Amino acid sequence: MTDAIQVQGWCPSAWQPMRAQDGWMVRVRPHCASISAAQWRLLAQLALSQAHSQIELTRLGNVQLRGVSEPQQVRSQLIAAQLVPVDADADLAPAVHCTPLYRSGDATHALALWLSAAVVERLSPHALARQAVAALPGKFGLLVDDPDRHMQSIAADLHLWVAADQGYCLALGDAADWYCFAHAQDAVEAAVQVALWFASARATITPAPTRLRGLLPYRQPDLPALRAAQRRAAVADGGSPAQALSPGQHAGQGWVMAAPLGRIDAAAMHQLASDLPAHTAIRVTAWRSLLVDAPAMESHIARLDPAHWITQPDDVRLRVSACTGAPRCTQALIPAQAMALALAAQVAENKHLHVSGCAKFCALAADASGVLYASRGAGGEVLLNASAVDQRARPGPPISSLAHTEAPEKIQELLHDLHL
Ligand code: SF4
Repeated sequence: MTDAIQVQGWCPSAWQPMRAQDGWMVRVRPHCASISAAQWRLLAQLALSQAHSQIELTRLGNVQLRGVSEPQQVRSQLIAAQLVPVDADADLAPAVHCTPLYRSGDATHALALWLSAAVVERLSPHALARQAVAALPGKFGLLVDDPDRHMQSIAADLHLWVAADQGYCLALGDAADWYCFAHAQDAVEAAVQVALWFASARATITPAPTRLRGLLPYRQPDLPALRAAQRRAAVADGGSPAQALSPGQHAGQGWVMAAPLGRIDAAAMHQLASDLPAHTAIRVTAWRSLLVDAPAMESHIARLDPAHWITQPDDVRLRVSACTGAPRCTQALIPAQAMALALAAQVAENKHLHVSGCAKFCALAADASGVLYASRGAGGEVLLNASAVDQRARPGPPISSLAHTEAPEKIQELLHDLHL
């Protein structure tokens, strides 16, 4: 029997929430990756009173509530707290993701503010409609990285960053070379021109690509803003890319805290946010964690409940991830989250196991080395399948399958034997 997988069509937002089986999904895109302690308190209260009692961190540094019963009410409160734009057009403009590694007012922060303003003004659905151009696809996004490019592997369409020599850089898609500009405004102008070009040029290909990297093999932008820039190529021995920030203290940057499976217990978040001064910036990283730099942070960390927070880089729970799974997702055949946490200690230090309630692989981690997923066998029975994941984060064919009712030891043995 083949599983019927239902695919949803767009990325949820506050103005365009997505209906899931367990209620509405509402996503907040933090402005410059930052949410104040007071705003986190509100998010936690909303999760506790009007949604599931977990706040999800996404792999692009967004925050989402699931199981929301009254999305309009929630949206009104998010707007009042300045977590969401007051008009739908600004909320539906392409996302501008931002590194959490900046100092308020520095060049990276200024670049992110300029880019965010330009994107709303010139790339929102209404702004494009005025030029008779269709809105950009929902997954099209821009990114402002830190000078060390910690977010280089994030799949944004346009990457901008401030170089060590204070120049401004723009890379298209996942290209290894980039354009350099003397001024931030020139880099922002070039990014907007490329996005406008993509919005028109994608229509010349069938089917129209939804990401810039899908168009670049067929079309190249020939734009005044790019012609005026200096082109630079990555040097072959340029060293290894900057690593994701792991939980723990990072000198000069603050403390990184993660939550098991990237889902923060709302009551635990409320307590942390209430302990910190209201204006404290709690930044959201693209690694499903938070970065906090506040006075006496060590004592706040010491008071955190380890059941809800991960503050050490060797915590085995960092080696697993899971989709929503049963009982909240009606397509799920297994309780993926509980299973992932139960198996975490069996996963080797340099591996990452993703557990999926069906073969749709929602929220599959880009760094997953193996996946354990459920499917139905020929007789309708539920099977657990183990697969390796390739470099493009695609699960291969099952290496082995067993009945999901097998004892946990058998499942652990399977993972161990397959080196997943
Ligand atoms: S992968 Fe998980 S969350 Fe996605 S549809 Fe399947 S069971 Fe549901």
